[in-house]
Amino acid sequence: MQQITPTILSEVIEKVLNRIEERLLNSHEKQLTTQEYIELNVLFQEEVLAKAFHIIDTQTIVSYRQENTTNELIEFAGSWPSQTVYKLFPFINFCHCTFFKDEILKAPEPAYYTCEHVIAARLARILNKLKIEILPKHKFNFIQKQIAPQD
Ligand SMILES: [Zn+2]
Repeated sequence: MQQITPTILSEVIEKVLNRIEERLLNSHEKQLTTQEYIELNVLFQEEVLAKAFHIIDTQTIVSYRQENTTNELIEFAGSWPSQTVYKLFPFINFCHCTFFKDEILKAPEPAYYTCEHVIAARLARILNKLKIEILPKHKFNFIQKQIAPQD
């Protein structure tokens, strides 16, 4: 039996996300269908997807964009009780959170593809829930420098 490799999984995930994104581009209601929700549950695992939706519902997710460039980074303002502010680059499967470090980077056979922050960043874009802030270069660089391991 053929194993599902991380590469195949990431290709499948990208295809599904791109398909949903294209459908919603032409739709006024930025809502997932039941079928799409089920697909995402299978791909990302239910508990991680639920945490991602909780972030989208309760936190402000800011997309900082450097003016006149395609440079972008995503920031999650921490919500009570955790005041941790996570920043990550969009479309890159990497995050500085503990879950990503323990369950994906350090796990010999990771049971998860990614963390709730990476999923929330992508879904917030698809669902039009990003708060976009255009910044001049020096301000963007300042925020970009803050993307570093938290511990
Ligand atoms: Zn994370």
